[in-house]
Amino acid sequence: MSNRRSFLKRSGAALAGLSLAPLVKAQPVKKDPIPYKKGLVISTWWHGLAANDEAHKIIANGGTAVDAAEMGVRITEADATGQSVGVGGLPDRDGNVTLDACIMDSKGNAGSVCFLQDILHPVSVARKVMDDTPHVMLAGEGARRFALDNGFEKTKLLTPESEKAWKEWLKEKEYKPIINIENHDTIGLLSMDKAGDIAGACTTSGLAYKMHGRVGDSPIIGAGLFVDNEVGGATATGLGELVLRTLGSFLIVELMRQGASPQEACEEGVRRIAERNNVKDMQVGYLAVNKAGEVGAYAIHPGFNYALHRDGHNEMIDAKSML
Ligand code: ASP
Repeated sequence: MSNRRSFLKRSGAALAGLSLAPLVKAQPVKKDPIPYKKGLVISTWWHGLAANDEAHKIIANGGTAVDAAEMGVRITEADATGQSVGVGGLPDRDGNVTLDACIMDSKGNAGSVCFLQDILHPVSVARKVMDDTPHVMLAGEGARRFALDNGFEKTKLLTPESEKAWKEWLKEKEYKPIINIENHDTIGLLSMDKAGDIAGACTTSGLAYKMHGRVGDSPIIGAGLFVDNEVGGATATGLGELVLRTLGSFLIVELMRQGASPQEACEEGVRRIAERNNVKDMQVGYLAVNKAGEVGAYAIHPGFNYALHRDGHNEMIDAKSML
């Protein structure tokens, strides 16, 4: 008891003298603080083109970066032809489609859902967690119940195509993520609105044929996505276990805070993974944007591409890679 009392006394004294000045100050933005007055959207993989278009439409109409991010990735979630996000996502090894998603706004708020079943738009459930609950993350049955209670409809997510692919997989049951093949193609999207504010969203069905209950990096704030509106944002795709172990998106934003360009920060994020893992057969790709509207992209292996909507053009670009 006396220990507890002296601890409280000590921590009270410490708090009284506490300085909230940051140890590492965000480096001042060198360029125009609102570099892209028409907005900027960047997102992972080919499905990013359609997501960017939708996000950019919202920004063009004066919408916020967070609305743009949510509405953009909803396009990918609703596309049943894509087998790595939302409806049509490849199931786990037991045949269940389980979805992960998160969102961050420009004020540092975050919402997330993981291991969610039967709901078409996990990113919007994550948004609701962010906006309407005292929490950041809901998982599994709790997330599902929260979604149903809030008007999201129960939806069958396993399409005949994905069911067929899973049944085919069951014959060999070999679990092997394949580099750049659609068994792991999350959409991570970063948006900058006309005010220069940054937000982001990330949504996935995760690795195909994963163990039931497996959650990757995508819904984890700081791993699959991180936004700090003072500095910039970052998002990840690829083998989530590698991103989780290094908390990649948070790392990239912190490196940018210390003065790294988005490109340098993405490269360091990849290097950090490679120095601790044998990445011969494993892919991770990062995207980043800073307050100056500079973007970065880098992957372990060639083949990672991204969609960039800037200056009225929406185009696919091949990311540079370490190998
Ligand atoms: N990062 C996702 C996961 O591990 C998959 C991907 O982006 O390819 O669940």
